[in-house]
Amino acid sequence: MCGIVAYTGIRPALPILISGLKRLEYRGYDSAGIAVETKDRIVIRKSKGKVKELSGLLGEDETDLAESNCGIAHTRWATHGPPTTENAHPHAGGKNGIALVHNGIIENHRALRDKLTAAGYLFLSETDTEVLAHLVDSLYQGDLLDAVIAALKEVEGTFGIACMVHAEPGTLIVARRGSPIVLGVGENGTIVASDASAIIKHTRQAIYLDDNDVAQIKGSELDIRSLDAGSVSRQPAEIDWSADAAEKGGYEHYMLKEIFEQPESIRNTLRGRLDSNRGNALLSGLNLNPRELAELHRVLIVGCGTSMNAGLVGEYAIEDFAGVLAEVEQAAEFRYRNPIVNSSDLVVAISQSGETADTLAAVREATDKGALVSGLVNTVGSTIARETGRGVYLHAGPEISVASTKAFTSQVSVLLMMALKFARSRRMSRDAGCQFVKEIKAIPGLVERVLEQNDAIAKVAERYLDQTSAFFIGRGYMYPVALEGALKLKEISYIHAEGYHAAELKHGPIALLEKDVPVIALCNDGPGKDKTLGNVAECQARDSRVLGIVTEGDSEAIATVDDHITVPACPLHTAVVPSTVALQLLSYHIARLKGCSIDQPRNLAKSVTVE
Ligand code: GLU
Repeated sequence: MCGIVAYTGIRPALPILISGLKRLEYRGYDSAGIAVETKDRIVIRKSKGKVKELSGLLGEDETDLAESNCGIAHTRWATHGPPTTENAHPHAGGKNGIALVHNGIIENHRALRDKLTAAGYLFLSETDTEVLAHLVDSLYQGDLLDAVIAALKEVEGTFGIACMVHAEPGTLIVARRGSPIVLGVGENGTIVASDASAIIKHTRQAIYLDDNDVAQIKGSELDIRSLDAGSVSRQPAEIDWSADAAEKGGYEHYMLKEIFEQPESIRNTLRGRLDSNRGNALLSGLNLNPRELAELHRVLIVGCGTSMNAGLVGEYAIEDFAGVLAEVEQAAEFRYRNPIVNSSDLVVAISQSGETADTLAAVREATDKGALVSGLVNTVGSTIARETGRGVYLHAGPEISVASTKAFTSQVSVLLMMALKFARSRRMSRDAGCQFVKEIKAIPGLVERVLEQNDAIAKVAERYLDQTSAFFIGRGYMYPVALEGALKLKEISYIHAEGYHAAELKHGPIALLEKDVPVIALCNDGPGKDKTLGNVAECQARDSRVLGIVTEGDSEAIATVDDHITVPACPLHTAVVPSTVALQLLSYHIARLKGCSIDQPRNLAKSVTVE
């Protein structure tokens, strides 16, 4: 949520800042701005809307801007104050020529604003960020690092910041608490960004700041301090994916590219983690010794949005196969309800970015309560990965589209492997384990078969464009798929969509069914199918058109529904993945045909780093 880029070095800063902002635009895109240092002053340009509006404000003949070697930039996802040019970052602080960009929320902004207003500061925006810019200015006595440290000690809330002052040319101060900041260290300078996708073009060496780190950067020289503990040393980590991985690669949208990447991304998730001979999963990163495994009392899965839907598949599979009590919980709720967790509970925190604020808060709460806490994240080096110290990386590659696709299918793949591992440590036989391994290994091939139907799914989508509301229903393993299908549709097509358990529909939502309210029913062949087909008939009796996700060759299901998309025959716990892919394509084509902004849907942002 919100993208920060900054550069100091010997190269022209402007192109680095603008190309970095374009990379980070998926994190927020309601306004954008830059501040660059020139001989006489810091020049700030900002604009409502996307980065291309900002680029339009930068005249080609402005040599002072073009020659600058130091600057900061921001693409915003508004929390305080609407998306206007005035509220766009960077914000200027007082009279010393300070410019500051910020990701996060300053929770005590009101009290600080009152104090600074009384001291004579004039506010030009409604943001919490401008408060921080003035606060730094009010504490500035010739050393920006000291002023930022003093200011951050007064601040409550979360921040990733980058700031500069005209009196200290070529110097950037960056800091983080809760919002990620990565430093890309090169020989010719340093690029700062909210995530590695903005620095990969320039360097593979990334230093991930820890919470409460403050860094002074002069070209390639770094001085990193901790707000609590003086100088600290942070080692660079190698970014393990290529710049091409973050390109569209000929696809019209990142979302479509990422949908089509899934056979490969799932293979990467599974690689080296399945033992076909022993019928087991090797998730060494979980770091559970045999005693911890045997004594595991409960698995509590926390996540938000798509990650929570994946978690529900995990809950079902872990109870189903391992007989271990499993629960999924919305991460945002966890720390505010005094949850009961202890050292025989494994808390699995799922987050694509590894930075989701609500999930991170749950991780900290569970850690404080003494639980075993593991992360299931995609972004190597992210906060959740580092704070949990145990966990499983998805290895799905960068996910740029705001609507998550390949992260979900990789999350489900890992959770199935976890279920297998826990099951094998308890009640599952080796033969059954070998069978399970085969089923998991078949998933990428199942996804390929669904992708082959892309054109047919696009045709089906044409029949579901004009509705304003839709219901997705499923039962058992297909219930989380219904939730995820509905989430995808509403995110990118703005059609109101709800996922319901197929049996639950008649306890309320059925009142809303009518001719123009279609139902998308997960009717995969397996336990519960007959009952779901009964629910389909109930919907049709209320004039709803029903699109069924059905198993190939299931003539009964095909004859029952009005339209259908097929997925290959497979057990329901693995059918989750191809069925979800079918619904991803359906949502994609509906949104495309409606002309929606697929990769950057309105009001949303990737990597939700505020609570
Ligand atoms: N709270 C700040 C604002 O509303 C920063 C939001 C962001 O992270 O983009 O401007």
